[in-house]
Amino acid sequence: MRQFADSPPVTLPSRGEFLVRGAHVLSMDDAVGDLPDGDVHLRDGTIVAVAASVTAPGAEVLDGKGMICMPGFVDTHWHHWTSALRPLMRQDDPSRGYFPVTFATGPHFTPQDSYRSVRLGLAQALAAGVTSTQNWAHNVRSPAHADAEMAAMRDTGIRGRFAYGTPIGIPNDQPMDIADLARAQRDWVSTDGLLTLGICSRNVDGSLGGARGAIGIDMARREWGAARDLGLPITLHTSGSGAIKRLTGTGLLGPDLQLVHPLGSSAEDRAELAKHGVSYSIAPIEEMRRQGTIQFAEMLEAGVSTSLSIDHTTTYNCDCFACMRMLYTLNMHRFGAKNTLTARRLVQLATIDGARDLGVDDKTGSLTPGKRADLILIRATDANLAPLGDPYEALVSMAQPDNIDTVVIDGRILRRHGQYTALDIDKVVRDAADTAASLKARATWA
Ligand SMILES: [Zn+2]
Repeated sequence: MRQFADSPPVTLPSRGEFLVRGAHVLSMDDAVGDLPDGDVHLRDGTIVAVAASVTAPGAEVLDGKGMICMPGFVDTHWHHWTSALRPLMRQDDPSRGYFPVTFATGPHFTPQDSYRSVRLGLAQALAAGVTSTQNWAHNVRSPAHADAEMAAMRDTGIRGRFAYGTPIGIPNDQPMDIADLARAQRDWVSTDGLLTLGICSRNVDGSLGGARGAIGIDMARREWGAARDLGLPITLHTSGSGAIKRLTGTGLLGPDLQLVHPLGSSAEDRAELAKHGVSYSIAPIEEMRRQGTIQFAEMLEAGVSTSLSIDHTTTYNCDCFACMRMLYTLNMHRFGAKNTLTARRLVQLATIDGARDLGVDDKTGSLTPGKRADLILIRATDANLAPLGDPYEALVSMAQPDNIDTVVIDGRILRRHGQYTALDIDKVVRDAADTAASLKARATWA
């Protein structure tokens, strides 16, 4: 088991037997339904039962009175390695924006920087009720960096996919480290099923002036083919129509491909994606900072599977409620009385749809007996939610991360009464601050 100098061996809470009693249960499973006053029984990391009343004499009771109990949020695209860069960025100074800062500091990351930065991002994920994440690691500078990022995921106890990428600044004609990808799969894809693996591809359409990569179709064929030979899925940034047009007819589109940022696609593009089962991850807060419309409604209409993502937390926070609210509001803004989007549809997007997109819907994304125990309890008695009306309306229109009382991942209670149960947050923050200061000193600034 790999450790890092600043990372003492982590002991996560054990998977015990728990009974959430008397909560307003939103299962996100049509067969189970919703229970305004229901119980959820967890044992050894598995959901045993979801019903109006469950008898479990040996279980520790988690009082659900006044709480909403639902599956944890599933994020499907988040660059956790950038998290510690927060103090170096500002939105109102173009030279200190997300892209210049990540390009300037990225080449200077040590494995320890990666570990500390990813751990900070994951700490925020836990606090915000995110129980699964896709760690979109587009600055894997060496095998040791890959190990550092995956160790941070393991040490935090989150469920997630590590999307293995290339180092920032790598020449476009140099392939990713395929041998190490295979090694990571052998060494890290865990027997307990918490960690899965995929790749994040460099851009194929040269957007951002190629700074995030501008590989040709031949290189995509080579790298994606290697991933597919290992049975690993692929994720790709594409803001606009360019990449989809370039990939059409190449044989590279498939149900193991996820695109990110649904902006600027045409009806023909969307038909092509639907035909090949390609999905789209929507990062509403980041996308609202770009030109063009977030094409959530268009993707739904075309039958393209969608999911929700945070993207990064360097110039905004992780708030899945705000992400849902933004899409809800945007649809009203765009379609007015013709808007047919429901609040429940957005909670599906943020839970079960994300699990499906990451290929883990057999394990998580709904409160279904037999699935792994990933759930959150939300205090509906807080001033911004009480008195509780429709719970979906409350979640999408009014809730905030601060309302999250309890976070359970794979049967382990990782947050209780709004506090971490295992993570030393003071150390996480201190280490991240050191990393940010050190990177600022080491990086070359224009
Ligand atoms: Zn991104």
